[in-house]
Amino acid sequence: MTVVDRQEWDVVVVGAGGAGLRAAIEARERGARTAVICKSLFGKAHTVMAEGGIAAAMANVNTGDSWKVHFRDTLRGGKFLNQWRMAELHAQEAPQRVWELETWGALFDRTKDGRISQRNFGGHEYPRLAHVGDRTGLELIRTLQQKIVALQQEDFRETGDYESRLKVFQECTVTRVLKDGRHVCGVFGYERESGRFFVLQAPAVVLSTGGIGKSFKVTSNSWEYTGDGHALALLAGAPLLNMEFVQFHPTGMVWPPSVKGILVTESVRGDGGVLRNSDGKRFMFDYVPDIFKEKYAESEEEGDRWYDDPDHNRRPPELLPRDEVARAINAEVKAGRGSPHGGVFLDVSTRMPAEVIKRRLPSMYHQFKELADVDITAEAMEVGPTCHYVMGGIAVDSDTAATRGVPGLFAAGEVAGGMHGSNRLGGNSLSDLLVFGRRAGRHAAEHAAGQGRERPRVDDVQVDAAAAEALRPFSAESESTGGSPPENPYTLHQELQQTMNDLVGIIRREPEMEQALRKLAELRVRARRAGVEGHRQFNPGWHLALDLRNMLLVSECVARAALERTESRGGHTREDHSAMERAWRNVNLLCAMADPTGGGAATDPERGQILLTRETTEPIRPDLLALFEKEELVKYLTEEELYE
Ligand code: FAD
Repeated sequence: MTVVDRQEWDVVVVGAGGAGLRAAIEARERGARTAVICKSLFGKAHTVMAEGGIAAAMANVNTGDSWKVHFRDTLRGGKFLNQWRMAELHAQEAPQRVWELETWGALFDRTKDGRISQRNFGGHEYPRLAHVGDRTGLELIRTLQQKIVALQQEDFRETGDYESRLKVFQECTVTRVLKDGRHVCGVFGYERESGRFFVLQAPAVVLSTGGIGKSFKVTSNSWEYTGDGHALALLAGAPLLNMEFVQFHPTGMVWPPSVKGILVTESVRGDGGVLRNSDGKRFMFDYVPDIFKEKYAESEEEGDRWYDDPDHNRRPPELLPRDEVARAINAEVKAGRGSPHGGVFLDVSTRMPAEVIKRRLPSMYHQFKELADVDITAEAMEVGPTCHYVMGGIAVDSDTAATRGVPGLFAAGEVAGGMHGSNRLGGNSLSDLLVFGRRAGRHAAEHAAGQGRERPRVDDVQVDAAAAEALRPFSAESESTGGSPPENPYTLHQELQQTMNDLVGIIRREPEMEQALRKLAELRVRARRAGVEGHRQFNPGWHLALDLRNMLLVSECVARAALERTESRGGHTREDHSAMERAWRNVNLLCAMADPTGGGAATDPERGQILLTRETTEPIRPDLLALFEKEELVKYLTEEELYE
């Protein structure tokens, strides 16, 4: 039997980004003893990178805004594939979550009359993003962290122990969700610094591990984004939803190579920045799709007037949803009208005084100055698409954040699917984290309380298996590998990233995705032999060898679902099926483990590890459909839906 440190909690939250921290606060406030686990230092989650803001219909800057308009924008952005109940709850509850953050100490930028300021962003009809310069995510995490410390101080006064009811385990990685029969009973993980294993027993686990970007070569995502939560859910028996939808943000840095992919926030365009090709043309006017034509300006003059008078002019097409802008940039570069380093030009220097740029976009100013030696107050930036966000994720119940078929397992934040449909609007993630983080924390606490004394138990055989799996990279050489030498995890990772970038990237084609699946099968077999040297104390090669299992699982889901969906919609563009098909509007694609007992083993290389099924989405509630004009619905809904 493997000897591991064991502790017992009511709720374990995996992930300390916006979703995880909000879930933990809620669970603790509802009386659950709550543990939070994160791979990085407390306060360093990916959420700190969020720049532009939090979308919430507070109507501070334009009184026309309301949850209904926000709901409409979110469905349009997601091309009507959103889990509509999530989009409804999100639009209704986001303002409350922002005001709550303020009462916990968040210092948002203000309007002249002292209210929380809100800025424009792509796809949002009104200025809607509450922000703190371009460092909103940092302020969000700082505030939630401060709230956690305040709760711990409260607990200290009552129990004499700061961590008696709420404890953060930082620099720890979870590699398995443990189960007792169908029920969750805890997690298995290792401390990154010492390599020691541990088990946290709990009847409720919330996964809030963020996204998958590190499976792609060019990405804005941080090192933590190896799809761990997606894979943990799959391995525990909970399906993933619509994994084909991966958002390529239109504006990542393209130069120098060392910083390729780093995000250039959408606020640059929201605040007036324009996109030009090598001929100096504002090309976005050529790329407004029919479904958006009525809402976007037809001329530069009208677009420019909108910034001062949004009630009497239409917005510029630079503010179309991200999928549209990313495809347009891709097309311009492909047509030979790109910038010297393979992007296009994004210019604020001719649009705003230098002082305003430095005040409103301080991080962008420093990012370009320090990383590319470009002064954005004097010259244009070069930008191009970068893998940014995954709309697909763990299938969850809209109200409770419970996963399907695994009692006690919940998911919130980027790791959960459904909320954003086929494409997320900027700013809708930070609000998603707060709205559904809170809901997941609440329902996890209630689930734990409902278990009484008869809690699911951790079985030693599972712990032994999890430990053996984690130790395999140290014995790759001695395993029966048919004489093949161990594989280098870094090489495998590079090959995986190149495969996903080239073959399942922004524009997809059937033969390429089939090629990707063959390559993934090969990588999966080789990854079984990923070997590392040295010991368990802070060993990044070992960590990567373990992360590869997750990235390969998630990549297979993306490739299989992308191959299956023979249309183009949001963050899924098929060159061979370039139209959005109404018949696909109500189809969800679910990915589950083909062999639920296989535990991630390299099953049949050809067939792969993932079983893909289709399901019909729940019909959109009539009162929500009534928020749209009939002419608009005709563009999206299936024949039967329209008939009904
Ligand atoms: P994260 O904040 O990523 O937290 C994940 C947590 O899980 C981390 O603590 C990590 O350590 C932990 N974790 C992961 N795996 C494990 C494991 N195996 N074991 C233990 N812990 C684990 N969205 C907006 O709405 N507005 C914006 O302005 C905005 N700007 C952005 C700018 C950039 C550069 C990027 C990349 C994204 C931006 N986004 C924005 C998107 C948004 O930041 C993310 O979607 C969001 O922060 C995800 O939060 P999360 O809580 O789901 O996950």
